[in-house]
This record gives sequence, structure tokens and C-alpha cells, in this order.
Amino acid sequence: MSYPIETMRVNSEGTMHLLYLAKEKQAAFFLASTSEIYGNPTVHPQPESYYGNVNSVGARSCYNEAKRYAEAITYWMNRKYGIPVRVIRIFNTFGPKMDLNDGRVITNFINEIMSKQNLTIYGDGRQTRSFQYIDDLLEGIVRLLSTTYEQPVNLGNPEEVTILEVAQILKELMKSNAQLEFLPLPEDDPRRRKPDITISRTIMDWEPAISLHDALARTIHYYQGQYIH
Ligand code: UDP
Repeated sequence: MSYPIETMRVNSEGTMHLLYLAKEKQAAFFLASTSEIYGNPTVHPQPESYYGNVNSVGARSCYNEAKRYAEAITYWMNRKYGIPVRVIRIFNTFGPKMDLNDGRVITNFINEIMSKQNLTIYGDGRQTRSFQYIDDLLEGIVRLLSTTYEQPVNLGNPEEVTILEVAQILKELMKSNAQLEFLPLPEDDPRRRKPDITISRTIMDWEPAISLHDALARTIHYYQGQYIH
């Protein structure tokens, strides 16, 4: 949101330029799309066939509308020029090596606990997300690339939790008694999010192997200087 125009241009014009490059080089095209294209979903969990509920003039539109355009142009270049495409929709993902100041919830909470600050909860904390560990995402990408499946594929962990539950698990794992500080909910913050992964299970026998609890433990180890690979 600090770079809204740049975000839109990278995802729209940038994607288009890369598609023309793929056409010129006769390469296949892999698009890392996102669960953001579902917006604030009215269908739960979200299958790939759900068209989404996106506010085209809202606070998140610089990202989600640009990613929707990226999907649209990818499929039109596929139809018109026969460029082979693979498209994944990535749900919330985390793991070691993230920037602790990148602003997302898990890194924010770990950062706040390590620096003995309050945990900043936006809204009432009852909104949900489904977090997957980076290694599961990478395994899903590798598997998809070895298939011939050209439709969008959700990659995410269907283990759905509230933000309050994430705070609680992290406090337990890090033996913290940090207080919760409630701040206003950002505009258009999705209320619920959970992938339907029937397609990824069916076409490539993929599902997440690492639970949220273990994924958080591994991530904390990394930030505490005890990286376990
Ligand atoms: N969130 C929060 N405190 C934070 C950062 C995020 O309560 O310090 C909330 C945020 O409002 C959202 C959820 O956690 O409901 C996930 O936010 P994140 O930015 O990590 O991912 P996204 O909203 O893109 O799914």
C-alpha cells in the first residue's frame, strides 16, 4: 500500500511483458497468483471455481485487482498464442528468512514478543486465516510444474485459525506473557479465508505436511538463531 501504483504496474504491465517474453522464447509461463483474488469471500472454503468478492476501489484493490488482471491476461495469452501456463493461488504463507518488519501478522507477533511489546491485533482478532509453511508451498509448486494442468490451483493449508489463536499459540511457544493491544481493522480486511484444496489433492496428490504448530515452532527457532532445516 506504500507503493500502490508500482504494485499495480508490476502485476499488470510486468506480467504482460513477461508473457510476451515467454511467447518470443517459446517458454511456458508460471504465474504466482494469490488468494487475494477471492477478496472478502462469501463462499467458504474457497474453491478455484469461486469468482471472488473484490472491492475494485477499496484499500486492497491496488494488489487484488492487479493480480486478477494478471490471471486474466495470462489466460488470454494462453488462448490466443498457445503459451503453456501454470497458475497457483497462494494462501497466507510464512517461514524462516522473512523480514521481521514486513508487516504481516506472524512476523509482527514474533517481532513484538522478542522485543517485549504488546501484540497488535487489528479488529477483534476473530477474523480467520489459513497459514501454510513455506516448504509445503514449494513442494506444491514443484509438483504442479511436472503436471500438464493449466487451470488455477489453490496452494494453502486448510487448517483455519483466528488471529487471536495465532497470538495464543505464539505466546505459548515463546513462553511470553505479552498483552494484546486492539487496533482498528484495516479497510476491506477479509473476514475469513480457507483454501479448498480438492484440486491439488486430486491432480498432484499434494496436501500440506506441516501443521501450523510445527511451522510456527520452526520459524521461531530460526529467529532465535537456531535454524533447523
Ligand atoms: N493482523 C493483526 N496484527 C498485525 C498484522 C496483521 O491483527 O500486526 C491481522 C490482519 O488485520 C489480518 C490478518 O492479521 O486480518 C492477516 O494479516 P496479514 O497482513 O498477515 O495477511 P493478509 O491480511 O494479507 O491475509
